[in-house]
Amino acid sequence: MAKILCVLYPDPVTGYPPVYARDSIPVIGDYPDGQTLPTPSAIDFTSGELLGCVSGELGLRRYVEAQGHELVVTSDKDGPDSVFEKELPDTDVVISQPFWPAYLSAERIAKAPKLKLALTAGIGSDHVDLDAAIKAGITVAEVTYCNSISVAEHAVMQILALVRNYLPAHQWVVDGGWNIADSVERAYDLEGFDVGIIAAGRIGQAVMRRLKPFGVRLHYFDTRRLPTEVEQELGLTYHPDVHSLVSSVDIVDIHAPLHPQTYHLFDANLINSMRRGSYIVNTARAEITVRDAVVDALRSGQLAGYAGDVWYPQPPAPDHPWRTMPNEAMTPHVSGTTLSAQARYAAGTREILEDFFERRPIRDEYLIVEGGQLAGTGAKSYTSDGSASPGAGT
Ligand code: NAD
Repeated sequence: MAKILCVLYPDPVTGYPPVYARDSIPVIGDYPDGQTLPTPSAIDFTSGELLGCVSGELGLRRYVEAQGHELVVTSDKDGPDSVFEKELPDTDVVISQPFWPAYLSAERIAKAPKLKLALTAGIGSDHVDLDAAIKAGITVAEVTYCNSISVAEHAVMQILALVRNYLPAHQWVVDGGWNIADSVERAYDLEGFDVGIIAAGRIGQAVMRRLKPFGVRLHYFDTRRLPTEVEQELGLTYHPDVHSLVSSVDIVDIHAPLHPQTYHLFDANLINSMRRGSYIVNTARAEITVRDAVVDALRSGQLAGYAGDVWYPQPPAPDHPWRTMPNEAMTPHVSGTTLSAQARYAAGTREILEDFFERRPIRDEYLIVEGGQLAGTGAKSYTSDGSASPGAGT
């Protein structure tokens, strides 16, 4: 019998289940590159339900208990007295989500001698110290592609929200005003802007495809250049490094994984090399930026706006400066956990668990670490330099 420790975000304050706005979600075919959607043997939930919170349990309880395993679900994840730390020592599998990450630091991995699988119900496994996982022989897997389109849609929304000055204009409506001049004094058309995408992976490419019809000029930087046909189809300008990219565009949209090469990439120097009045949208990971450099640049006007949904740590403290900095359009970490995305990552989590328990190989594209090294998607998108993964520091 195995013990599965599953960390999920708390239920809605109004109770579970919520009253759903719609009765169903659209049925989606394969992902854009032909990768198939998750293929578990069965699912024990209704697609479109809230699955990512504690009471939703990712729809896993029936399956896990039918196999004779134990499922512990909690949202209490931080500090030495948390349920997570107390349950960890005899846990075989940890399931966590980037939206409410159970940070698996080297210290915590050292306290979990039975741990064999760290499963991310979503995409982005930087909350796991990958070097420590490599050394401990732990497999790290995530549900690649499950929410890539969800995030791409959110990024496009936040680009438009900033450039069109949407949230301040909306606030005038809520406040009973009709303040046209106040609403438009920072509003522009997106058309004609230079937009730079950092990392043209699954999300970055989906954003580029969605932005192209707006009549923008698209630029990108990735450590792996796209095929010429894709560059031509989307009219992309490739930049050999991030410095060249950021000084050539009006909007930077970040989609790189967090790893030693991207940690604190956007510091004061890089931000000050951008055009005055640039915008940054970051739905990748907060620590790709230096927190206070972003705040300073918004205050000085070097940046015209900053949006995204990723913070550090998560959840952020009530006095985190990004809550109150000027010209922000932040959300909590929600872009990849729409009800639509939850159905896919709950099914993908079950698929990975089934493969793990039935000793079948986990799909290569789901793997980040296996057999003591970066593997699958992890080998393409992450680096391991022997130092602890920055995101798993607490
Ligand atoms: P992906 O693996 O398809 O693409 C990652 C891309 O980053 C690859 O093309 C890779 O070559 C590139 N890359 C790696 N290191 C780089 C570097 N130093 N500079 C430039 N490019 C680099 O992943 P994806 O599905 O597009 O997701 C990307 C990231 O987005 C995830 O790692 C995760 O951190 C984040 N994400 C956030 C959410 C959310 O809810 N906000 C959801 C999913 C993913």
